[in-house]
Amino acid sequence: MNDKYCYDEMTWPEIRDVIRNQPVLLLPFGAVEDHGPHLPLNTDNIIVVAICQEAARRLKGEVLVMPAIAYGLDEHHMDFPGTISVDMQTLIQFVSDVVISTARHGFTHILIVNGHGSNASIADLAARRVVLETGVVCAAVNPNAAIDPTLAEPTLSKMRKSQPGGIAHAGEYETAMMLHLRPELVDMDRALKEQSQLKIEYFNWDHPEPSAVAWQDWWSRMSESGVCGDPTLATVEFGEALFETTVENFIRLLRAFRTLPIRSRQDMHETPSDQKTQGG
Ligand SMILES: [Zn+2]
Repeated sequence: MNDKYCYDEMTWPEIRDVIRNQPVLLLPFGAVEDHGPHLPLNTDNIIVVAICQEAARRLKGEVLVMPAIAYGLDEHHMDFPGTISVDMQTLIQFVSDVVISTARHGFTHILIVNGHGSNASIADLAARRVVLETGVVCAAVNPNAAIDPTLAEPTLSKMRKSQPGGIAHAGEYETAMMLHLRPELVDMDRALKEQSQLKIEYFNWDHPEPSAVAWQDWWSRMSESGVCGDPTLATVEFGEALFETTVENFIRLLRAFRTLPIRSRQDMHETPSDQKTQGG
């Protein structure tokens, strides 16, 4: 059996053969943007790709990882040097075009794995376009706990030291994950706490409080350093535990996702009596 799990490391005959086994295809979708003075611009990409690759490595043959889409919806970060921004309409089109290509080759179960908060609605809409145009099973998921805590639980709630607002962006979660995955890229001497994001009833940015309002302001109107959270409390132990929990939960999700059936559509315009008349 072929034990490669990177889509683009295969030859075309290998891809042709692997499609017969219908592995789940993962498309990591990240960003290049400021993550404070202590983390690199590629933080979102590193975290989302690492989760995808580790899950695929453990699930031998059941999952394939595509090359990441490394740029995202980031206009609101453009006041910070280095950020790359792609137009939102272009992104929906681009991400769904990539996935539709794989559906045309015969892949039936595809997950857009998003690692950057502002990409979440783009990933959702791109997945919907794929379903409507091809009929395959395509969905979006957010394993980065700064976006959605689900896959990092219960470790996130049990081990976090920061107060609400401490996880949000370049905070305790992302810094801990980077200390585990790429410590040489983290400068803890420059890590600083900044939690100046606005908060009102029914709107907040961080777990565990629910938020009913979706709102994203220009980043430089709420943060001077780029940080919204508390990276100073991050530890490598927290990062290791978060990564392990997330990969384990993600594997459970992938196994369940792979069993989703592709059912037939039905045209409900015709009534049973219409069919009878037409039939003779
Ligand atoms: Zn991030």
